[in-house]
Amino acid sequence: MPHPEAYNDLTIGIMAMQGSFAKHAYSLGNLGIKSRVIRSAEDLAQVDAVILPGGESTTMTLLLENEGLWEPLNEALKTLPVFGTCAGAILLGRQIDDPRVHCFEKIDVETVRNAYGRQVESFTTALVMPRVLDHDFHAIFIRAPKFENIGPGVSTLAVYGAEQVMLKQGNVLIASFHPELTDDSGIHKYFIDEIVLKSR
Ligand code: GLN
Repeated sequence: MPHPEAYNDLTIGIMAMQGSFAKHAYSLGNLGIKSRVIRSAEDLAQVDAVILPGGESTTMTLLLENEGLWEPLNEALKTLPVFGTCAGAILLGRQIDDPRVHCFEKIDVETVRNAYGRQVESFTTALVMPRVLDHDFHAIFIRAPKFENIGPGVSTLAVYGAEQVMLKQGNVLIASFHPELTDDSGIHKYFIDEIVLKSR
């Protein structure tokens, strides 16, 4: 299927401090969408949206601050759409009770780190998300956070048992799992079509 014309004009910035940033570039590439890694404030000036990948939220906080990227990113997120996966989702939620992790507070939700257990308790599952995809999504959870005390302005896009695992508020999308680790770019397509292009 040809890619929509509007995709040609887009460049998505992927924070490349640490974590699974290359996989996000691959998911976007599958859709015919350009991306660039963000390693400096100048890189941020040239993108239409931002992805914060999974990894380790403590390390990401440290690197963003040490590289002088925290403030420029905070400023950019006042207007740019953003998609955070796993550790990236933690950074976008409300400030948590861990002084090593700083949060941008872009979505009205509390996150609990490593809430499903340790690395060995990582798992995969098929998620049904009718508002996003016409097929099940093979979701990979790796030391994933849980989302709690979800504010009234937040929409739920996917659940796993009693947990809400993908959420949206305005131009902010978060997932507690790793959509970039499969060959299915459907969630990236949802982010582009429903959030990035609609917020232009
Ligand atoms: N447990 C990690 C954290 O708290 C997130 C794990 C991940 O991104 N896969 O930052």
